[in-house]
Amino acid sequence: MPGFEIFGDEERKEVQDVLDTGVLFRYGFDQARKGHWKAKAFEAELAKLTGTQYCHLCSSGTAAVSIALTACGVGAGDEVIVPPFTFVATIEAVLGAGAVPVFAEIDETLCLNSDAVNAVITPRTKAVLLVHMCGSMAGIDEIKALCEQKGLVLIEDACQALGGSLNGKALGTFGHMGCFSFDPVKTITCGEGGAVVTDDKKLYTIAEGYADHGHDHTGSDRGLEGHPILGTNFRISELNAAVGLAQLRKIDYILKKQRAHKKAIKDAMSRFSEITFRKIPDEKGDTATFLSFFLPEEEQARKLAGKFADAGVDGCFYWYDNNWHYIRQWDHLKKLKSAARLPIALLENRPDYENIDLPQSDQIMSRTISMLIKLSWTEDELKQRIEKIVGVIDKG
Ligand SMILES: *Cc1c(COP(=O)(O)O)cnc(C)c1O
Repeated sequence: MPGFEIFGDEERKEVQDVLDTGVLFRYGFDQARKGHWKAKAFEAELAKLTGTQYCHLCSSGTAAVSIALTACGVGAGDEVIVPPFTFVATIEAVLGAGAVPVFAEIDETLCLNSDAVNAVITPRTKAVLLVHMCGSMAGIDEIKALCEQKGLVLIEDACQALGGSLNGKALGTFGHMGCFSFDPVKTITCGEGGAVVTDDKKLYTIAEGYADHGHDHTGSDRGLEGHPILGTNFRISELNAAVGLAQLRKIDYILKKQRAHKKAIKDAMSRFSEITFRKIPDEKGDTATFLSFFLPEEEQARKLAGKFADAGVDGCFYWYDNNWHYIRQWDHLKKLKSAARLPIALLENRPDYENIDLPQSDQIMSRTISMLIKLSWTEDELKQRIEKIVGVIDKG
């Protein structure tokens, strides 16, 4: 997830355009901005890249998920099926909407499994929030078919999967709405930023209004605009959008580099019969931000992760013990610890988050190691890294 590795003159130039006009706001100031509309330009280019009709930029990936939920009509008391392996932001957005996260098992795609989703559907289920974790995709076709059959909203959290695709179709474009993040560790970054994409004009209209206090964005006087709905402020600034625009134009280079680096490491590791790799429904559409693989047993995985750390193979993650991405360590969520009472606290039949049982996900995550793939490795660094990795595994 290396946008920060390639910050350069292109980003500086786009930001300078904005600084030269002094217009930091994405709306209005038509004369003063001298033709610079960075947020709008970013939206047009991201829509083109993902092959969608509509794109709206916002202040973060978390905001994007919040916007998507609201635009798709997911609100108070609605159950939303989520994976236990994600960034906790996904869950926070559901709670923020007043909705109820319902966890389902993942499979060896490291994403939600369609049978597992089916198993937790209730009459209150409104949506499935499908997260494409660590740069690669879920078994989308099965989950989409299930959502269609059950009449559920499908939202894709593609915050970690910009530029990925399944059979040529961009991740984030299979459901009703797709979400992206441009925070500092994502494939491209603009400091803080996010986006939603959709082919549905109605959803887009709600999304872009909701993200700006319900403004309908018609006419040329902001003060006279209508407000069909209440909203909030999830706007992005022109400064951030300018950085993102320059970064987005580097996406082909980023993906090519990542894929080459990942392939070299994966090829070298393939000769170890005890290692198996994450299931990837379409290898060609993998963004290759991570190489994720499994050991036969938890103990072996934990040991190998330790050995990689000792040998100086940086960027290796054993998520099962990591506080960030897997439910096992999310004590704040399990106890619903929040600064103030959450809407879900009013629901009597909410899930018992302290006693959630996800044996299949535990079984997978306890055996999983993910390696970050960097852009900035030189040929030499990559070679040395592979030698180190192979050496560590060889020694057992
Ligand atoms: C990063 C991320 C988010 C949130 O994005 P921010 O821009 O950091 O708010 C949401 N979901 C997933 C899966 C992420 O990785």
